[in-house]
Amino acid sequence: MKITEIRTYLMHAGAPNLRKWAADGSFGTQSFSKNLTGTRNWLFVKIFTDEGITGIGECSGWPRVIETAVKDLSRLLVGEDPTHIERLWQKMHIGMMGHGLTGTVGAGAINGIDMALWDIKGKALGVPVWNLLGGKVRDRIRIYAHANTPEVALSLKERGITAFKMGGVSNPVRKFGQLREAVGDEMDIAIDLHGPPWLTPADAVQVCRELEQFRPMWVEDPVSPDNLEGFRRIRQHSSVPLAAGERQAMIFGERELIEDELVDVIQPDTGRAGGITQMKKIAAMAEAHHIMMAPHSGSLGPVAEYAALHILAAIPNGLILERIEDDWEGREKTIVPHPKQTDGFIPVPDAPGLGCDIDEEFVAQFPSEANVSVPVTEASGSYQPGTFNEHVYVQTRLRRGVYFPKS
Ligand SMILES: [Mg+2]
Repeated sequence: MKITEIRTYLMHAGAPNLRKWAADGSFGTQSFSKNLTGTRNWLFVKIFTDEGITGIGECSGWPRVIETAVKDLSRLLVGEDPTHIERLWQKMHIGMMGHGLTGTVGAGAINGIDMALWDIKGKALGVPVWNLLGGKVRDRIRIYAHANTPEVALSLKERGITAFKMGGVSNPVRKFGQLREAVGDEMDIAIDLHGPPWLTPADAVQVCRELEQFRPMWVEDPVSPDNLEGFRRIRQHSSVPLAAGERQAMIFGERELIEDELVDVIQPDTGRAGGITQMKKIAAMAEAHHIMMAPHSGSLGPVAEYAALHILAAIPNGLILERIEDDWEGREKTIVPHPKQTDGFIPVPDAPGLGCDIDEEFVAQFPSEANVSVPVTEASGSYQPGTFNEHVYVQTRLRRGVYFPKS
């Protein structure tokens, strides 16, 4: 079998249902909603072969830029046997080394191609991708959704969902306490302290220590992903489980978080970590350190979600999968078939390969225009110094009397 062509499909994905997803004073504004629409592009890759088998994959990490990178990389792949996945992965990695170390953009380009190669191999052999990865550890994958208010959290609970994540850019301790009180002790709650602005390590330590009482599933990105020393400092001063890794790529990017045991949960993004090939290796590195994997998929499309289901089915240290449960309605129309959760779990697909394909005609209806944005503008009236809604990278959160309330 030989690769004959690689095509890309770039689309402008609509915004999630913010009211249901994350109704929250800190970013529940119309202006943010408009900007969020601009921040989500989905890039799918399809590989064609001379035997009529095709494979589908997805790339994240700046999809509009990656689309060009995939076209460049395709020159290295046409004519190759698609079943030699590791060899082709190495060829792509070496092929872009002249541009410097491979960050998430380069890894994102490799990612979609690699995913499509696994899809082809599964179809050629008549087995699901999880079978190529060693077989199933589990038959269904637990998911977590998102909620920032007791109302939204309770609606998730009513739908059988057993875990969710809240945003922590404003009043994180008080909000976590309210959510814990609303849903009780049975639901797992994670909190993402993501920036920018990122917390200083000193403030992050204080937040983490105050959150311990509510027994979070994890505290995510308490400091900037650049600041591994900050993670070390938090480790020394708090027992709270830590999670990170969505902005790093490949085993080389995740290595220090894992080997120095700076996190309890590693969160590679299924669209930009370097493909299924890298996700499997990252999982094995993490397993050796008793670290669990919970793939990031906050802005990802549905093909990457399929890949995550196969990976989590096959790795022993798979913890849970992120899912925007109340996403843009076009998500379901982008893919066939659309995976559904029941009682907080998605069944592992059983069809050969990944078991899905995109609806090319539907995707073509949503052309991409741009893919950079900041949360809000000063002119919108939503500009809030010292919060998520200010355009600086590192900053002590202001209004500290509110951010760190006495009770
Ligand atoms: Mg995050």
